[in-house]
Formats: sequence, C-alpha cells, structure tokens
Amino acid sequence: MARVAVIAGNWKMHGTVAEARKLFADLRSRLGSEAPDREIVVAPPFTALAVAAAELGRTPIQLGAQNVHWEAKGAFTGEISAAMLLEAGCRWAIVGHSERRQLFGENDADVNRRVRAAVSAGLRAIVCVGETLEQREAGRTLEVVDRQTRGALLDLGSADIESICIAYEPVWAIGTGQTATPDQAEEVHREVRGIVVGLVGGDAAKQMRILYGGSVKPENIDSLMAEPDIDGALVGGASLDAASFSRIVQYRS
Ligand code: PEP
Repeated sequence: MARVAVIAGNWKMHGTVAEARKLFADLRSRLGSEAPDREIVVAPPFTALAVAAAELGRTPIQLGAQNVHWEAKGAFTGEISAAMLLEAGCRWAIVGHSERRQLFGENDADVNRRVRAAVSAGLRAIVCVGETLEQREAGRTLEVVDRQTRGALLDLGSADIESICIAYEPVWAIGTGQTATPDQAEEVHREVRGIVVGLVGGDAAKQMRILYGGSVKPENIDSLMAEPDIDGALVGGASLDAASFSRIVQYRS
C-alpha cells in the first residue's frame, strides 16, 4: 500500500492565542474541509491547543504537540503528559527536535522514553533526527542519524514503529534558509528505512513515513516530494504563514 504523505507544521514558540486564531481561520479557508490524500498536522504552542481544537474541528487538519513527557503525572515542572495532550485534542507529538536536544540537553535515552510514552498512549510520534554541519563536514551524517534512529526506536515493536514518523532534519538546514538537496535528503531517508528494515523487517519499514525538515518552502517542496523515500515534511518557519503552508500541503510531484 502506498504511503500517505504527512505535512506537519511546527510553530515552535510562536503565536499568542489571538494570532493562532487568525492563522487557523486563514488555514481553514485555504485548505477547506475536504479530506485530502495526505495528512496535515499543526503543532502550535500548548497555550493555543484549546483554540486549535475548537477552530480545526471540522477540517482535515490534525493537532500535534511539540513535546511529550514519559511519565503520566508527577513533579516534572514544565512538562506535559500524553494523556493531557490527548485530552487537549492532540493526535501527534513531535519528539527529539534538535532544539530540544541542543538547547535543553535531551539525549537519545530521553527521546526513546518520550517516544514510548507517546505511542503507548496512542499518540503518533514524529521523531526528529539529524546531523550538525560539523558532523556532515566530518563525513559522519549517516553514523549520527543511525545512532539517533536506533536510540529513538529502542524496544519498540513493529506495529509501534509503523505508526511513527521519523523526520530527518539536518541541523544546518533548520531556520537557515539552506535546504538539503533532494539527493542529500534521499540518501539519508534511504539509510533510515534500511535501519528500520534491520530492526523490524521490510513490511513495517515500507509503511513508515520518513519526513524531511529544514527550510522547507513552497519553492522546494515539489522537488523534495518527488524523491521515493521522502514521505512528507516537517515545516518550521513556513508553517507560520497560511499561504506558504497551504502551498506546501498542496505540493505537486
Ligand atoms: C523545524 O524546526 O522543525 C524546521 C524544519 O524549521 P524550518 O522549516 O524553519 O527550517
């Protein structure tokens, strides 16, 4: 069965409730209410989840969170549980974003705990992996992505892995305007799929969606999506503009 593409917008720490309401209204009018042949996800800040759930109710846009903690509750100031996110209307959670890894010290074991909590609660995880510029220049891209992918998927079975998306996000391409070429991205996506074949076999690996992230824009989405192992995009900056995000969702390949 062909893989259904996923286009996900990560708003990061952008958007008051008033700004989010405006952006949702604009997205709703551009994307309409018809279910397209691709999945659309938006991950606004936690404070905008309630208004998102209300505004996006009858649209094909699904709600995602930007993180999820591994415990159900407890003394974890600043964290949020999978059950809380489900209650707020989320169906997806981004895990292991490079900003979480670099700025907040998350390691592969943390990412794995978050992924396992998400999938066991029924959230679809979008797990981010990707090398820094220094690592790419040292020829270590595949080694780094290999380690992060295996670390994130540790102890997960094939059904869980099938439900997960891996987002290959080279750190040097995030927010820089410098996108990986389709060839560069495809090389890493093929490697990730190969790792998953080794972990849980070809059937789950064939179903897993592997997204590309890093300065995705209306101008480059079509060529990225033309690659056989690129099954969607995780979009940062361009997801804050309804016209750009809608065009990315409506990619042609
Ligand atoms: C991201 O932060 O996940 C991202 C891909 O950002 P941008 O599209 O702005 O590079």
